[in-house]
Amino acid sequence: MTKQSLTLYLAAPRGFCAGVDRAIKIVEMALEKWGAPVYVRHEIVHNKFVVDGLRDKGAVFVEELLECPDDRPVIFSAHGVPKAVPAAAAKREMIYVDATCPLVSKVHIEAQRHSDNGLQMIMIGHEGHPETIGTMGQLPDGEVLLVETVEDVATVEVRDPERLAFVTQTTLSVDDTIDIVKALQERFPGIVGPHKEDICYATTNRQEAVKAIAPKCDAIMVVGAPNSSNSKRLVEVGARAGCDYAQLVQRATDIDWRALNGIKSIGITAGASAPEVLINEVIDAFKDRYDTTVEIVETAVENVEFKVPRVLREPA
Ligand code: SF4
Repeated sequence: MTKQSLTLYLAAPRGFCAGVDRAIKIVEMALEKWGAPVYVRHEIVHNKFVVDGLRDKGAVFVEELLECPDDRPVIFSAHGVPKAVPAAAAKREMIYVDATCPLVSKVHIEAQRHSDNGLQMIMIGHEGHPETIGTMGQLPDGEVLLVETVEDVATVEVRDPERLAFVTQTTLSVDDTIDIVKALQERFPGIVGPHKEDICYATTNRQEAVKAIAPKCDAIMVVGAPNSSNSKRLVEVGARAGCDYAQLVQRATDIDWRALNGIKSIGITAGASAPEVLINEVIDAFKDRYDTTVEIVETAVENVEFKVPRVLREPA
């Protein structure tokens, strides 16, 4: 049977970012340095394949510090943690390594600085996401107000409208966030904030790349996990940028082939925590079924790298 032809537009950049790469390296280096088990508070990055791979090497994933014994090292995930978590680890004299992405730590520092200057903080983020919990947890309970939508901005109750600052989650939709920031600035003209928002380079670049391929594609596959914020945003951005069918898949077995019946073009991208091996698996699945021509659509070149914490660079 002859295969139907298909143009596969591969978005670049896609997949792993520098913060994810560093966080995974931290767990691997901790296992080398201290041996198994090494405890990790929360999924180190939101990807089951990555987490399962590290579990096989001896990492133990838990949700709370209380689940870790005092005498084994613990690593905090790339999403960041409330200040109370390292404080509790220090009190128990545990060895701990913070794998919080440096771009998330930068937001933590911003929030603290504004608060020290007497400003009340507003965070634009998703309720319940570990990054939002971590950033809000840099300040005492109730000090950071959360807004998720433009509608929330209209109802948020602040202490003093003249003494406000905002920060954002790093993995939001760039376009939605512009609208929320605009609404904040209209309601509170004196509000202080970053130049644009705190969305990181990796989130921005992946959203730009998916926007570039979306109008050419009959369908888009975003490789990523259902709990990965930046992957879910890529699905939304792809759909809004002109592709009628955008689907989040963890790996090739998730592809709904029936829904793709009759397509002539497919776009592929991946969230910042999706490994290249899973992206290649999805590409190969299309190559198996179609006579595929791959076109790489590159909208940015990334060369960001973050160092691992010093404790892991020193000999045991
Ligand atoms: S998505 Fe951005 S903030 Fe999150 S780990 Fe990657 S670089 Fe850091």
